[in-house]
Amino acid sequence: MLGMNRMKNRKPAPEFRQEIEAIYAELERRPLPRQCEMRTGCCHFRLAGHTPMLTRGEALHAAQGVRASGRKELKPHPDGACPLLGRDGRCTIYKHRPFGCRTHFCAEAGGMYPRKHVADLIQRLEALDERLGGSGSRPLEAAVSDALAAF
Ligand code: SF4
Repeated sequence: MLGMNRMKNRKPAPEFRQEIEAIYAELERRPLPRQCEMRTGCCHFRLAGHTPMLTRGEALHAAQGVRASGRKELKPHPDGACPLLGRDGRCTIYKHRPFGCRTHFCAEAGGMYPRKHVADLIQRLEALDERLGGSGSRPLEAAVSDALAAF
């Protein structure tokens, strides 16, 4: 059995991307009315009191977004907000944002998606996490930092 660090840094098989994009595409096909309007309240973790938790596939996909933007590592946000929140107040990896950022909306925007609406997609994320040697959902910053080391 591989040690935890070797698992975390193991180069992922390219098929993970296909499954993650299929899950996100399926989510797009079942939208619920929300008025997000890029409020980014949920990206300010300290204020929101909530940090997105990412499975391994989501973290790898987000890491690809970080690499595509020319960065190789995450730098902490000065306000304790998400390290992927840009200076202009917008997400710097919007197309690669994780599942939680697509389903967790603040109360003003209409609230988070009910679990029953997305339970099957969460199960697919968990199954992919297992196939990728992940250890379940982890806080965004740690999960994406580890995933960056895999590329
Ligand atoms: S990944 Fe993007 S959308 Fe998600 S919390 Fe960070 S800045 Fe916000």
